[in-house]
Amino acid sequence: MPNTDLIQRFYFAGQPFRGAIVKLQNSFIEALNGHNYPAAINALLGESLTASMLMGIHLKHNARLSLQARGDGPVKLLMAEAVIQQAVDTEETAAQHKVRAVARLSEEAPQTIENHQQGFQHLLGRGQLAITIEPEEGERYQGIVGADQTTLSLCLESYFNQSEQLPTLFQLATSETGAAGILLQRMPHDDHQVGENNLNSNDIWDELIALTSTLTHKELLEVPVEKLLFNLFHEHQVKLSPPDAINFECSCSYQRTGAALMQINPLEIASILEADKEIIMDCEFCSARYRFTKSDIDLLDQQSNQTRH
Ligand SMILES: [Zn+2]
Repeated sequence: MPNTDLIQRFYFAGQPFRGAIVKLQNSFIEALNGHNYPAAINALLGESLTASMLMGIHLKHNARLSLQARGDGPVKLLMAEAVIQQAVDTEETAAQHKVRAVARLSEEAPQTIENHQQGFQHLLGRGQLAITIEPEEGERYQGIVGADQTTLSLCLESYFNQSEQLPTLFQLATSETGAAGILLQRMPHDDHQVGENNLNSNDIWDELIALTSTLTHKELLEVPVEKLLFNLFHEHQVKLSPPDAINFECSCSYQRTGAALMQINPLEIASILEADKEIIMDCEFCSARYRFTKSDIDLLDQQSNQTRH
């Protein structure tokens, strides 16, 4: 039974609203393991991991959802990725989602970040946030929004409100040992009948937003999800779907790393091999190390030629 790392979806009987709470502990710790990022970056990665899971609540098929922020500030790249898997059998709570994350910092970042408690916008500088959804089958989708708000949650709200026309509230919280978040969203009109209920719905939506906004970071992080939802929405017939588990898992492999290596100029590869006898590739996400000797590379080259012809 999932408990420490989970996503809990919820909805409201007869109302066009949906939501989810994500809680991460082990997966958050494992994603940060070995990286030694400054505390502010750990927090930002915790928010990004949580958000990448929350943003997939509308997906009906297996997909990879990534959140990628690039900027010219101390943080060059911030990336969180969720592999969202639908339960095969709705009777089971077997869906297992996977998350991973990475940050790339400028050389002087560790000092500047430690010295100032800065917000999202300052850490990133001028930049943008890309949201990419790659379904297992079907077309890739990408949406882009300016990283020009003080927090990641405000950026994501503006993405949903403007690009997607879906009024959305995000609250994200992190501590040294965990990350948590809640999303509340109005569903598209065609997903629901619009009728006499609609006026009423506007009032209820405003009330749900006001209730959710009262949540403190401490409550979000510490109160168990069912109790949290009951405390907030017991007057609004909140319904809970079975929770799904979330794990840290990196999708890197020897084969994938080798394929990436084959994209590099062969002359460059030859010169590294000449000097070092092997090429070492470290996975940026999980620090797994892959080694390639000349014979490994010849074999990869043969294989990639075979698949090309
Ligand atoms: Zn990896």
